Amino acid sequence: MATAERDLYELLCVQRGATDAEIKKAFRKLARELHPDVSQEPDAPERFKEVAQAYEVLSNAETRRLYDQYGHAGLRRGGFTPTDFDFGSLGDIFSAFFGDDLFGRGSRGPGRGGDVGASVRIELAEAYAGLTKRVELEVARTCGRCGGDGAEPGTAPATCGTCRGAGRVQQVSRSVFGEFVRTGACPTCSGSGRVVETPCEECAGEGRRLETKALDVEIPPGIHDGQQIRLRGEGHAGAHGGPGGDVYVEVRVARDDRFERDGDDILSSVDLTIVQAALGATVTVPTLEGDLELEFEPGTQPGEVRVLRGKGMPVLQRFGRGDQRVLVNVQVPHRVSDEQRRLLEQFEAGSDEHTYRRDEGFFEKLRSALR
Ligand SMILES: [Zn+2]
Ligand SMILES: [Zn+2]
Repeated sequence: MATAERDLYELLCVQRGATDAEIKKAFRKLARELHPDVSQEPDAPERFKEVAQAYEVLSNAETRRLYDQYGHAGLRRGGFTPTDFDFGSLGDIFSAFFGDDLFGRGSRGPGRGGDVGASVRIELAEAYAGLTKRVELEVARTCGRCGGDGAEPGTAPATCGTCRGAGRVQQVSRSVFGEFVRTGACPTCSGSGRVVETPCEECAGEGRRLETKALDVEIPPGIHDGQQIRLRGEGHAGAHGGPGGDVYVEVRVARDDRFERDGDDILSSVDLTIVQAALGATVTVPTLEGDLELEFEPGTQPGEVRVLRGKGMPVLQRFGRGDQRVLVNVQVPHRVSDEQRRLLEQFEAGSDEHTYRRDEGFFEKLRSALR
Protein backbone atom coordinates (compact mmCIF):
# COMPACT_ATOMS: atom_id res chain seq x y z
CA MET A 1 0.00 0.00 0.00
CA ALA A 2 1.60 3.21 -1.17
CA THR A 3 0.00 5.30 1.54
CA ALA A 4 1.28 2.99 4.29
CA GLU A 5 3.09 5.67 6.22
CA ARG A 6 1.67 8.88 4.79
CA ASP A 7 -0.70 10.89 6.88
CA LEU A 8 -4.16 10.48 5.42
CA TYR A 9 -5.36 13.93 6.42
CA GLU A 10 -2.30 15.43 4.81
CA LEU A 11 -2.95 13.47 1.63
CA LEU A 12 -6.42 14.95 1.42
CA CYS A 13 -5.18 18.41 2.46
CA VAL A 14 -7.61 18.67 5.38
CA GLN A 15 -7.27 19.32 9.13
CA ARG A 16 -7.48 16.39 11.52
CA GLY A 17 -10.81 17.65 12.85
CA ALA A 18 -12.33 18.08 9.39
CA THR A 19 -16.04 17.38 9.07
CA ASP A 20 -17.33 14.67 6.75
CA ALA A 21 -18.50 17.37 4.35
CA GLU A 22 -15.04 18.94 4.26
CA ILE A 23 -13.40 15.59 3.64
CA LYS A 24 -15.82 14.83 0.84
CA LYS A 25 -15.28 18.22 -0.71
CA ALA A 26 -11.49 17.90 -0.50
CA PHE A 27 -11.57 14.49 -2.16
CA ARG A 28 -13.84 15.65 -4.95
CA LYS A 29 -11.51 18.51 -5.68
CA LEU A 30 -8.39 16.32 -5.68
CA ALA A 31 -10.03 13.55 -7.68
CA ARG A 32 -11.01 16.00 -10.36
CA GLU A 33 -7.42 17.21 -10.57
CA LEU A 34 -5.65 13.88 -10.38
CA HIS A 35 -7.79 11.40 -12.23
CA PRO A 36 -5.93 10.01 -15.28
CA ASP A 37 -8.89 11.08 -17.43
CA VAL A 38 -7.95 14.64 -16.60
CA SER A 39 -4.35 14.89 -15.50
CA GLN A 40 -1.32 14.45 -17.74
CA GLU A 41 1.09 14.48 -14.80
CA PRO A 42 3.16 11.28 -14.73
CA ASP A 43 2.58 10.69 -11.03
CA ALA A 44 -1.14 11.43 -11.16
CA PRO A 45 -2.33 7.77 -11.21
CA GLU A 46 -0.26 6.96 -8.13
CA ARG A 47 -1.39 10.09 -6.31
CA PHE A 48 -4.96 9.48 -7.30
CA LYS A 49 -4.82 6.02 -5.73
CA GLU A 50 -3.33 7.41 -2.52
CA VAL A 51 -5.96 10.07 -2.26
CA ALA A 52 -8.78 7.64 -3.04
CA GLN A 53 -7.49 5.23 -0.39
CA ALA A 54 -7.22 8.05 2.14
CA TYR A 55 -10.78 9.03 1.34
CA GLU A 56 -11.93 5.46 1.66
CA VAL A 57 -10.63 5.37 5.23
CA LEU A 58 -11.65 8.84 6.36
CA SER A 59 -15.13 8.80 4.83
CA ASN A 60 -16.14 5.86 6.99
CA ALA A 61 -16.71 6.65 10.69
CA GLU A 62 -15.44 3.25 11.79
CA THR A 63 -12.18 3.23 9.86
CA ARG A 64 -11.59 6.90 10.57
CA ARG A 65 -11.87 6.28 14.32
CA LEU A 66 -9.45 3.35 14.00
CA TYR A 67 -7.01 5.48 12.08
CA ASP A 68 -7.29 8.42 14.50
CA GLN A 69 -6.60 6.18 17.48
CA TYR A 70 -4.08 3.69 16.16
CA GLY A 71 -2.84 5.04 12.84
CA HIS A 72 -2.01 2.80 9.92
CA ALA A 73 -1.18 -0.09 12.23
CA GLY A 74 -4.70 0.09 13.60
CA LEU A 75 -6.18 -0.17 10.14
CA ARG A 76 -4.07 -3.21 9.36
CA ARG A 77 -4.90 -4.92 12.63
CA GLY A 78 -8.53 -4.06 12.11
CA GLY A 79 -8.51 -6.06 8.92
CA PHE A 80 -8.93 -3.06 6.67
CA THR A 81 -7.55 -3.51 3.19
CA PRO A 82 -7.76 -0.65 0.77
CA THR A 83 -9.61 -1.13 -2.45
CA ASP A 84 -7.22 -1.51 -5.32
CA PHE A 85 -8.77 0.92 -7.73
CA ASP A 86 -8.62 0.33 -11.38
CA PHE A 87 -9.44 3.81 -12.42
CA GLY A 88 -12.52 3.27 -14.44
CA SER A 89 -13.71 6.54 -15.71
CA LEU A 90 -13.88 9.53 -13.45
CA GLY A 91 -17.64 9.20 -13.63
CA ASP A 92 -17.47 5.59 -12.41
CA ILE A 93 -15.30 6.60 -9.48
CA PHE A 94 -17.70 9.35 -8.49
CA SER A 95 -20.72 7.15 -8.71
CA ALA A 96 -18.89 4.48 -6.70
CA PHE A 97 -17.97 6.94 -3.96
CA PHE A 98 -20.85 9.34 -3.97
CA GLY A 99 -23.59 7.49 -5.75
CA ASP A 100 -23.82 10.35 -8.16
CA ASP A 101 -22.83 10.96 -11.69
CA LEU A 102 -20.22 13.57 -12.40
CA PHE A 103 -21.20 14.09 -15.97
CA GLY A 104 -24.93 13.88 -15.52
CA ARG A 105 -25.37 10.98 -17.91
CA GLY A 106 -27.97 9.37 -15.70
CA SER A 107 -27.48 5.63 -15.61
CA ARG A 108 -23.97 4.27 -15.97
CA GLY A 109 -25.12 1.73 -18.48
CA PRO A 110 -23.51 -1.69 -18.95
CA GLY A 111 -20.23 -2.56 -17.22
CA ARG A 112 -17.10 -0.96 -18.55
CA GLY A 113 -14.29 -3.34 -19.44
CA GLY A 114 -11.22 -3.65 -17.27
CA ASP A 115 -7.98 -1.81 -17.86
CA VAL A 116 -4.97 -3.71 -19.12
CA GLY A 117 -1.41 -2.95 -18.12
CA ALA A 118 1.61 -3.56 -20.32
CA SER A 119 5.22 -2.60 -20.20
CA VAL A 120 7.76 -1.82 -22.89
CA ARG A 121 11.47 -1.37 -22.54
CA ILE A 122 13.27 1.11 -24.76
CA GLU A 123 16.80 2.43 -25.06
CA LEU A 124 17.72 5.94 -23.94
CA ALA A 125 18.46 6.81 -27.58
CA GLU A 126 14.90 5.71 -28.46
CA ALA A 127 13.48 7.86 -25.67
CA TYR A 128 15.50 10.69 -27.17
CA ALA A 129 14.14 10.26 -30.69
CA GLY A 130 10.68 8.88 -29.91
CA LEU A 131 9.39 5.81 -31.73
CA THR A 132 6.45 3.59 -32.43
CA LYS A 133 6.60 0.31 -30.58
CA ARG A 134 4.42 -2.72 -31.15
CA VAL A 135 2.98 -4.20 -27.99
CA GLU A 136 1.11 -7.49 -27.80
CA LEU A 137 -1.54 -7.94 -25.17
CA GLU A 138 -4.12 -10.47 -24.12
CA VAL A 139 -7.38 -8.59 -24.28
CA ALA A 140 -10.95 -9.75 -23.79
CA ARG A 141 -13.09 -9.16 -26.86
CA THR A 142 -16.82 -9.32 -27.16
CA CYS A 143 -17.91 -12.76 -28.37
CA GLY A 144 -19.25 -12.62 -31.91
CA ARG A 145 -21.70 -15.49 -31.50
CA CYS A 146 -23.72 -14.19 -28.54
CA GLY A 147 -22.94 -10.51 -28.96
CA GLY A 148 -21.54 -10.44 -25.43
CA ASP A 149 -24.48 -11.50 -23.30
CA GLY A 150 -23.16 -15.06 -22.96
CA ALA A 151 -26.48 -16.71 -23.84
CA GLU A 152 -26.73 -19.11 -26.72
CA PRO A 153 -28.48 -17.36 -29.60
CA GLY A 154 -32.25 -17.87 -29.28
CA THR A 155 -32.13 -17.89 -25.45
CA ALA A 156 -31.95 -14.96 -23.02
CA PRO A 157 -30.15 -14.55 -19.68
CA ALA A 158 -32.29 -14.62 -16.51
CA THR A 159 -32.21 -12.19 -13.59
CA CYS A 160 -29.69 -13.27 -10.91
CA GLY A 161 -31.38 -14.69 -7.82
CA THR A 162 -28.57 -13.80 -5.39
CA CYS A 163 -28.61 -10.05 -5.95
CA ARG A 164 -32.04 -9.82 -7.60
CA GLY A 165 -30.44 -8.21 -10.61
CA ALA A 166 -28.64 -5.45 -8.69
CA GLY A 167 -25.20 -6.89 -9.39
CA ARG A 168 -23.90 -5.91 -5.92
CA VAL A 169 -24.22 -7.45 -2.49
CA GLN A 170 -23.17 -6.36 0.99
CA GLN A 171 -20.38 -8.32 2.61
CA VAL A 172 -19.71 -8.18 6.31
CA SER A 173 -16.34 -8.99 7.81
CA ARG A 174 -15.72 -9.16 11.53
CA SER A 175 -12.64 -8.06 13.42
CA VAL A 176 -11.70 -7.16 16.99
CA PHE A 177 -12.67 -3.61 16.20
CA GLY A 178 -16.11 -4.43 15.00
CA GLU A 179 -17.82 -5.18 11.78
CA PHE A 180 -16.86 -3.83 8.44
CA VAL A 181 -19.54 -3.67 5.85
CA ARG A 182 -18.63 -3.22 2.28
CA THR A 183 -20.49 -3.58 -0.91
CA GLY A 184 -18.95 -5.84 -3.49
CA ALA A 185 -19.77 -7.42 -6.82
CA CYS A 186 -22.28 -10.27 -6.55
CA PRO A 187 -20.37 -13.58 -6.53
CA THR A 188 -23.08 -15.42 -8.47
CA CYS A 189 -23.33 -13.12 -11.47
CA SER A 190 -20.00 -11.23 -11.08
CA GLY A 191 -21.89 -7.96 -11.02
CA SER A 192 -23.89 -8.32 -14.19
CA GLY A 193 -27.20 -8.90 -12.41
CA ARG A 194 -28.01 -11.69 -14.81
CA VAL A 195 -27.24 -15.38 -15.08
CA VAL A 196 -26.96 -17.36 -18.26
CA GLU A 197 -28.93 -20.60 -18.25
CA THR A 198 -28.00 -21.77 -21.74
CA PRO A 199 -24.39 -20.71 -22.23
CA CYS A 200 -23.11 -19.66 -25.63
CA GLU A 201 -21.13 -22.49 -27.23
CA GLU A 202 -18.43 -20.21 -28.47
CA CYS A 203 -17.49 -18.44 -25.21
CA ALA A 204 -19.03 -20.83 -22.64
CA GLY A 205 -21.26 -18.06 -21.36
CA GLU A 206 -18.47 -15.59 -20.66
CA GLY A 207 -19.63 -13.20 -23.38
CA ARG A 208 -15.99 -12.34 -24.02
CA ARG A 209 -12.98 -14.19 -25.30
CA LEU A 210 -9.33 -13.55 -24.68
CA GLU A 211 -7.44 -12.68 -27.80
CA THR A 212 -3.97 -11.47 -28.52
CA LYS A 213 -4.03 -7.95 -29.81
CA ALA A 214 -1.12 -6.00 -31.25
CA LEU A 215 -1.08 -2.29 -30.63
CA ASP A 216 1.28 0.26 -32.08
CA VAL A 217 2.18 2.60 -29.27
CA GLU A 218 3.47 6.05 -30.11
CA ILE A 219 6.21 6.88 -27.66
CA PRO A 220 6.90 10.62 -27.72
CA PRO A 221 10.45 12.01 -27.70
CA GLY A 222 11.60 12.86 -24.19
CA ILE A 223 9.54 10.25 -22.35
CA HIS A 224 10.76 9.50 -18.84
CA ASP A 225 11.38 6.12 -17.30
CA GLY A 226 8.21 4.81 -15.63
CA GLN A 227 5.75 7.05 -17.44
CA GLN A 228 2.56 5.50 -18.70
CA ILE A 229 0.83 5.95 -22.00
CA ARG A 230 -2.89 5.51 -22.00
CA LEU A 231 -4.70 3.99 -24.96
CA ARG A 232 -8.31 4.77 -24.41
CA GLY A 233 -10.82 2.03 -25.06
CA GLU A 234 -8.19 -0.52 -26.13
CA GLY A 235 -8.47 -2.62 -22.96
CA HIS A 236 -10.87 -5.44 -22.15
CA ALA A 237 -14.26 -5.28 -23.81
CA GLY A 238 -17.04 -4.26 -21.47
CA ALA A 239 -19.58 -6.79 -20.23
CA HIS A 240 -22.86 -6.88 -22.15
CA GLY A 241 -21.74 -4.43 -24.78
CA GLY A 242 -20.32 -1.89 -22.29
CA PRO A 243 -17.43 0.38 -23.26
CA GLY A 244 -13.92 -1.04 -23.41
CA GLY A 245 -11.37 -0.41 -20.67
CA ASP A 246 -8.09 1.34 -21.31
CA VAL A 247 -4.59 0.08 -21.87
CA TYR A 248 -1.81 1.59 -19.80
CA VAL A 249 1.61 1.03 -21.27
CA GLU A 250 4.42 1.65 -18.84
CA VAL A 251 7.60 2.75 -20.56
CA ARG A 252 10.86 1.65 -19.02
CA VAL A 253 13.92 3.45 -20.32
CA ALA A 254 17.07 1.33 -20.11
CA ARG A 255 20.26 2.73 -18.68
CA ASP A 256 22.91 3.82 -21.12
CA ASP A 257 26.42 3.33 -19.76
CA ARG A 258 27.63 6.50 -21.45
CA PHE A 259 25.00 8.81 -20.03
CA GLU A 260 23.22 9.63 -16.84
CA ARG A 261 19.86 11.30 -17.26
CA ASP A 262 18.90 14.13 -14.96
CA GLY A 263 15.41 15.26 -15.91
CA ASP A 264 15.82 16.63 -19.41
CA ASP A 265 19.57 17.02 -19.01
CA ILE A 266 22.21 14.47 -19.82
CA LEU A 267 25.34 14.03 -17.76
CA SER A 268 28.43 12.35 -19.17
CA SER A 269 32.11 12.30 -18.42
CA VAL A 270 35.24 12.56 -20.49
CA ASP A 271 38.68 11.21 -19.64
CA LEU A 272 41.75 13.35 -20.33
CA THR A 273 45.26 12.13 -19.57
CA ILE A 274 47.34 14.43 -17.38
CA VAL A 275 49.25 15.42 -20.50
CA GLN A 276 46.08 16.21 -22.51
CA ALA A 277 44.72 18.20 -19.58
CA ALA A 278 47.97 20.11 -19.14
CA LEU A 279 48.69 20.79 -22.83
CA GLY A 280 45.16 20.93 -24.24
CA ALA A 281 43.56 18.38 -26.59
CA THR A 282 40.67 17.65 -28.91
CA VAL A 283 38.70 14.64 -27.69
CA THR A 284 35.68 12.74 -29.04
CA VAL A 285 32.66 12.83 -26.74
CA PRO A 286 29.46 10.84 -27.30
CA THR A 287 26.16 12.73 -27.40
CA LEU A 288 22.68 11.41 -28.13
CA GLU A 289 23.05 12.80 -31.65
CA GLY A 290 26.36 11.03 -32.23
CA ASP A 291 29.99 11.78 -31.51
CA LEU A 292 31.23 15.32 -31.12
CA GLU A 293 34.79 16.67 -31.15
CA LEU A 294 35.41 18.81 -28.10
CA GLU A 295 38.41 21.02 -27.68
CA PHE A 296 39.93 21.39 -24.24
CA GLU A 297 42.20 24.31 -23.32
CA PRO A 298 45.66 23.78 -21.89
CA GLY A 299 45.36 23.64 -18.12
CA THR A 300 41.94 21.94 -18.05
CA GLN A 301 41.22 20.90 -14.46
CA PRO A 302 39.56 17.72 -13.20
CA GLY A 303 35.93 18.37 -12.30
CA GLU A 304 35.47 21.04 -14.93
CA VAL A 305 32.09 20.89 -16.59
CA ARG A 306 31.47 21.65 -20.23
CA VAL A 307 27.85 22.52 -20.93
CA LEU A 308 26.60 21.53 -24.38
CA ARG A 309 23.46 23.65 -24.75
CA GLY A 310 20.50 21.87 -26.28
CA LYS A 311 22.25 18.49 -26.49
CA GLY A 312 20.11 16.95 -23.77
CA MET A 313 16.74 15.20 -24.00
CA PRO A 314 13.76 16.77 -25.76
CA VAL A 315 11.33 18.26 -23.27
CA LEU A 316 8.25 16.03 -23.34
CA GLN A 317 5.31 17.53 -25.19
CA ARG A 318 6.98 20.92 -25.40
CA PHE A 319 9.53 22.68 -27.50
CA GLY A 320 13.10 22.82 -26.39
CA ARG A 321 15.78 20.46 -25.24
CA GLY A 322 17.82 19.97 -22.11
CA ASP A 323 21.59 20.35 -21.98
CA GLN A 324 24.39 17.85 -21.87
CA ARG A 325 26.92 18.46 -19.11
CA VAL A 326 30.30 16.86 -19.66
CA LEU A 327 32.34 16.32 -16.53
CA VAL A 328 36.11 16.24 -16.99
CA ASN A 329 38.04 13.41 -15.37
CA VAL A 330 41.82 13.62 -15.46
CA GLN A 331 43.56 10.28 -15.61
CA VAL A 332 46.72 9.92 -13.56
CA PRO A 333 49.19 7.25 -14.76
CA HIS A 334 48.74 4.00 -12.95
CA ARG A 335 52.10 2.52 -13.79
CA VAL A 336 55.15 4.30 -15.25
CA SER A 337 58.35 3.06 -16.88
CA ASP A 338 61.75 4.08 -15.52
CA GLU A 339 62.09 6.57 -18.33
CA GLN A 340 58.67 8.11 -17.59
CA ARG A 341 59.50 8.29 -13.91
CA ARG A 342 62.70 10.18 -14.71
CA LEU A 343 60.79 12.62 -16.93
CA LEU A 344 58.09 13.21 -14.31
CA GLU A 345 60.67 13.79 -11.60
CA GLN A 346 62.42 16.19 -13.89
CA PHE A 347 59.08 17.92 -14.51
CA GLU A 348 58.41 18.14 -10.80
CA ALA A 349 61.86 19.58 -10.11
CA GLY A 350 61.19 22.28 -12.71
CA SER A 351 57.80 23.26 -11.25
CA ASP A 352 57.32 26.43 -9.23
CA GLU A 353 54.41 28.43 -7.74
CA HIS A 354 53.26 29.39 -11.29
CA THR A 355 52.91 25.82 -12.49
CA TYR A 356 49.72 25.18 -10.53
CA ARG A 357 46.93 27.60 -9.86
CA ARG A 358 44.58 27.51 -6.93
CA ASP A 359 41.05 27.74 -8.22
CA GLU A 360 37.58 26.91 -7.02
CA GLY A 361 37.48 23.66 -5.15
CA PHE A 362 36.99 20.36 -6.90
CA PHE A 363 33.95 19.75 -4.78
CA GLU A 364 32.31 22.98 -5.93
CA LYS A 365 32.80 21.97 -9.53
CA LEU A 366 31.38 18.54 -8.92
CA ARG A 367 28.37 20.12 -7.25
CA SER A 368 27.75 22.30 -10.30
CA ALA A 369 27.94 19.24 -12.53
CA LEU A 370 25.38 17.38 -10.46
CA ARG A 371 23.29 20.48 -9.74
ZN1 LIG B 1 -20.56 -16.07 -26.77
ZN1 LIG C 1 -26.04 -11.45 -8.87
